[in-house]
Amino acid sequence: MNRRIIFMGYSLSSSKCLGICLMLTFVMGCYLAALPIQYEREALPNPVRQRITSLEPSKKRLAVLVPFRDRFEELLEFVPHMYSFLNRQKIPFHIFIVQQKDNNRFNRASLINVGFIYSKKDYDYLAMHDVDLLPMNDNLKYDYPAAGPMHISSPKTHPKYHYDTFIGGILLVTREQYELVNGMSNNYWGWGLEDDEFYVRLKDANLTVMRPSNISTGIDNTFKHIHDKTYRKRDMRKCYNQREVTRRRDRETGIHDVSYKLHNTHTVAVDGLNVTVLNVELICDKNKTPWCQCPEPIKAAKKN
Ligand code: UDP
Ligand code: MN
Repeated sequence: MNRRIIFMGYSLSSSKCLGICLMLTFVMGCYLAALPIQYEREALPNPVRQRITSLEPSKKRLAVLVPFRDRFEELLEFVPHMYSFLNRQKIPFHIFIVQQKDNNRFNRASLINVGFIYSKKDYDYLAMHDVDLLPMNDNLKYDYPAAGPMHISSPKTHPKYHYDTFIGGILLVTREQYELVNGMSNNYWGWGLEDDEFYVRLKDANLTVMRPSNISTGIDNTFKHIHDKTYRKRDMRKCYNQREVTRRRDRETGIHDVSYKLHNTHTVAVDGLNVTVLNVELICDKNKTPWCQCPEPIKAAKKN
């Protein structure tokens, strides 16, 4: 039986209709096959694409994560400096200013965890980077640290810290290395020790910390440390059982349990150079880390 079908206003036999449908499918197939293949990164939505300074597919991409609060003057110097420095090395990078917006004490490690979670989809490795430490020697290479985390601001060249296991200041880590150790501990509110705890995480995971070679500059001229200890006081208070807990290796907290709200993000230009500011509220569980707020005011802190 040859039933008649109404197709686009025409009355057609069902076999003719089938023929037309097959033809349309064929034509559509040819059209789709002829379209150029898009790389995944080119298909990214606009705000994400803007952050990437190079679309060269083979190059690993670096997220510079800057834990931040109340360091505006340093930021104005940091951004143009890092753009020039990393562009000379042809590193595809983007700078994320992870700004802490809450009433708790500064928590550098948790901010880095948040920056990592935000950027990991689009970036292959990260630099945890102090905003006040500017690399001055072009032999400090910010390449993908395949052989192990690369400590750029080594104790031999850091202006202030010279102990062997120091890994603070500027450290490059691949996404996989960071994930392997569950990132950084969230227990460190206030200044210090979070980097030393991270050193133990890396060691326990058998990751070897690398240091730059061929550096002929020393502690006075490898970095510029924009840090006046009176103007930018370090919050060295210890309250409740902070001292006791933060001396020990933390096997629990990290990327997986960092508690925060990302309030908003902004693209901000410094001298026309874009960075992404993440406004982050860190949430403190006062039963676990009551020292996220110390009762004594910061002025009472011991001077360094
Ligand atoms: N930081 C900040 N605001 C603060 C404390 C620290 O932005 O109130 C960030 C900033 O990136 C700084 C880094 O954390 O460079 C390390 O802190 P700091 O410079 O006090 O430590 P240092 O290594 O000089 O002892
Ligand atoms: Mn400093």
